[in-house]
Amino acid sequence: PPQLFGPERRNALGIDLTDEPTIRALSATLSTPRHYRAAPTVTPAATSPRRGRVVHNPAIGEDHIGEVIDATPADILAALDRAATSPIWAGRTPDERATPLERAADLLEGADYELLGLIVREAGKSFPNAIAELREAVDFLRFYAAQIRATFDNATHTPLGTIVCISPWNFPLAIFIGQIAAALAAGNNVIAKPAEETPLIAARAVELLHEAGIPPDALQFLPGDGTVGAALVEDPRVDGVMFTGSSAVAKLISRQLFGRIGRNGQPVPLVAETGGQNAMIVDSSALPEQAVADIIASAFDSAGQRCSALRVLLVQEECADRLLTMLCGAMRELRVGNPALLETDIGPVISAEAQARIDDHIDRMRRAGRKIWHTELSPDCVRGHFIAPTLIEIGRVADIGGEVFGPVLHVRRFARSELDGVVDAVNATGYGLTFGVHSRVRSTIERVCSRINAGNLYVNRNMIGAVVGSQPFGGNGLSGTGPKAGGPLTLRRLLSACPAYSPL
Ligand code: GLU
Repeated sequence: PPQLFGPERRNALGIDLTDEPTIRALSATLSTPRHYRAAPTVTPAATSPRRGRVVHNPAIGEDHIGEVIDATPADILAALDRAATSPIWAGRTPDERATPLERAADLLEGADYELLGLIVREAGKSFPNAIAELREAVDFLRFYAAQIRATFDNATHTPLGTIVCISPWNFPLAIFIGQIAAALAAGNNVIAKPAEETPLIAARAVELLHEAGIPPDALQFLPGDGTVGAALVEDPRVDGVMFTGSSAVAKLISRQLFGRIGRNGQPVPLVAETGGQNAMIVDSSALPEQAVADIIASAFDSAGQRCSALRVLLVQEECADRLLTMLCGAMRELRVGNPALLETDIGPVISAEAQARIDDHIDRMRRAGRKIWHTELSPDCVRGHFIAPTLIEIGRVADIGGEVFGPVLHVRRFARSELDGVVDAVNATGYGLTFGVHSRVRSTIERVCSRINAGNLYVNRNMIGAVVGSQPFGGNGLSGTGPKAGGPLTLRRLLSACPAYSPL
């Protein structure tokens, strides 16, 4: 892959789950779980008279991981005041900003077992997913630090001011840190609002970032629900917003920001990464064993709770029966359950509400007469919010409705003559995030890749887990504004060019 980190850098390696001593050390950390407390940085938990909201483990309802004190309107105003009047961070050189970000990457790696355990308990991720998430968070810190050092100086570009970062629960560490690292590298003051469901891992990350030398004025933390994000975005002192979440909320934010001018005299930018109606085409030349392995990973890994996840499998009718038989066999082998067990492949969905939304969709499809097949859940799954991996046969891509954020894969068979038509149907959803193709015919690959509107294309492989620095991640249309995360253009959007000279 291209060396976007520079020649001396490479992506984080994570930990090796095939190594016995590593597994023992990880198990030892997990067997003594900490009780976590999180609070807005403007009113630390120790001094707050308020009672916290309990944060539950989505796999085991009775496991209370900790408490979070959500931000009040007064906290929000105090944080905005502080961010608007603290110029110290912007005045630092790119080098002085890069160093603590790199130190934070080292601290995260040093706290790996604890952080992995917390991701598993709070977000319901499997260990392999948690490891990938920690690696991605570390990569974002090192990548944006390297970018700011190599590409910008304070004479050519100035920070925007205050950036609000609103992040999702499905990557509660990686995307939380990725947004913050980019905004801080560019010299902005950050107010970070984590997802309502995953404030504890975010609070722990903020502690480590402060410990690494990011000044508390430059990085403030405001946990809470969507009203906290809305109140922040509403405030005229905000000079930029980074958001990852649903397309509907991104539209609301875009409306809130419309016509607003930041302190640099330019329109207030929104960097949004949202959903997708992601498809994969499998034609009759594809290698079925490889296609099945990649479909399983793309559709069911993280219980389908990635915006990159495969939602619509487009399979050529000549190979459909064989491929679907193999796919059902592979799905039966998936272990769904408590992700704290190393053998678990698929954990829970994030909440009772998420579970109900996905169940409603499956019910609606059943009532519409669709053919549905799913695996069986073990009795233990009643303790948490689990959905069995499910296949739903559909006649048209449009039948699905919106994005279904869970382990549900829609299958549409197509005739060879319909190849362009099914690609057009995917484009017609308005989303354009990820797209996969499994084929051994070069002209087919080229044809669908040039026709599809998607940010990230994957050929003869799975379509999740974009790697920072090598595979910048982000979509078109309803899927986001760009610039892609983990790519060379992100920092440019978080800076304003000085008019006299701009190399980018
Ligand atoms: N970057 C992630 C991937 O490639 C997805 C990010 C998201 O779900 O928001 O799978």
